[in-house]
Amino acid sequence: MVNSPIRMCISCRNRLIQKSLYRFSVQNEKLILNNKNGRSLYLCQSCLLDKKKEKKINNILENKFKVKEFKETLYLLKEKLVNV
Ligand SMILES: [Zn+2]
Repeated sequence: MVNSPIRMCISCRNRLIQKSLYRFSVQNEKLILNNKNGRSLYLCQSCLLDKKKEKKINNILENKFKVKEFKETLYLLKEKLVNV
């Protein structure tokens, strides 16, 4: 685990190993999962699946990252996580 990159979840601000976070990027005001181009941001699984954090995450995405389309991306990922 030496030199594992550490990244911060935009919601809880916990610093975690990059591999344990979901990586998104913003391109053309749209949130894309696992895309290396554009501005990156990370979310941890517990934030993603926490209903109470949904509004907070939405606000951060809209206001800080200026994302306009993200609900579908997050919804599809959450569905996948819940149905594992
Ligand atoms: Zn988090």
